[in-house]
Amino acid sequence: MREHARGMSRSAHLCSDCDAVCCRLTVVLQPEDRVPERFTARTRAGLHVMARDEQGWCVAVDAARMCCSIYDTRPGVCRRFVMAGPYCRASRAEYSAQAARGIPLALE
Ligand code: SF4
Ligand code: SF4
Repeated sequence: MREHARGMSRSAHLCSDCDAVCCRLTVVLQPEDRVPERFTARTRAGLHVMARDEQGWCVAVDAARMCCSIYDTRPGVCRRFVMAGPYCRASRAEYSAQAARGIPLALE
């Protein structure tokens, strides 16, 4: 979702084989980010973040096309997230472990 799959081997963690797991992580917005307000929220602690739906995914996910609907103006945090990097792998591992344990993949 966050990086293109160009140049990655078949055995790598590809976005095309993923449920946009990184788009369930908290995305804290920075002053330089230009995200439409309707996609954002405030945490109890007052952080400006990407809003998430009741199942935990960022509201900017285009579920029909499995892509970021605001790709050209996505937050800097998303731009820096590296496909098949350590956070990607950790997120996917945690997501798979939760699913295997039957833990609902939704926010509280
Ligand atoms: S978790 Fe990794 S593989 Fe999945 S969409 Fe995000 S960057 Fe792509
Ligand atoms: S803004 Fe786009 S890339 Fe970032 S979490 Fe939301 S859907 Fe994913």
